[in-house]
Amino acid sequence: MSIIAYVGIGSNVGNAEGNVRRAIRALGEAGHVRRVSALRRTPPWGRAAQAPFVNAAVEIETLLSPRTLLETLQRIERRLGRRTSYRWGPRVIDLDILLYGAMRVDEPGLVIPHPRLFERSFVLEPLSEVGASMRGSRQPPA
Ligand code: ATP
Ligand code: CA
Ligand code: CA
Repeated sequence: MSIIAYVGIGSNVGNAEGNVRRAIRALGEAGHVRRVSALRRTPPWGRAAQAPFVNAAVEIETLLSPRTLLETLQRIERRLGRRTSYRWGPRVIDLDILLYGAMRVDEPGLVIPHPRLFERSFVLEPLSEVGASMRGSRQPPA
């Protein structure tokens, strides 16, 4: 059975816009890309001084399980030139699973909805643009 999932994309190394566009094309490997948000420029954040990010979100119809989807995203990240980098550091490409249907996942190495989704306007804005409904997805505060 296919599931509608939402993937967040970010890049701030090299040709960030080109990297995001390549990632969107590569996401065809993970399923059928149904909608793509506008690409938006986000001021640098995270650790240390960094270049601004280009962010986007896509809606994808996939047959992959959450874990296999994550592995596919990580394979695409590596192919597009991402080298292991620290969390919130500069990166050629970052692909995160934001939502996977209405499913909640909380396993080592995989948490869905993405745990920092609701505090990031640079993720929420493109996400709402591609039509994800947040109702029922918000995690109550712990
Ligand atoms: P953040 O998770 O705050 O956006 P990041 O994207 O910089 O930070 P990474 O270094 O890319 O963090 O990934 C760290 C780990 O997060 C990955 O190894 C992966 O196993 C894990 N992870 C957990 N949940 C998810 C998810 N929903 N999507 C992608 N990776 C996830
Ligand atoms: Ca991320
Ligand atoms: Ca990531």
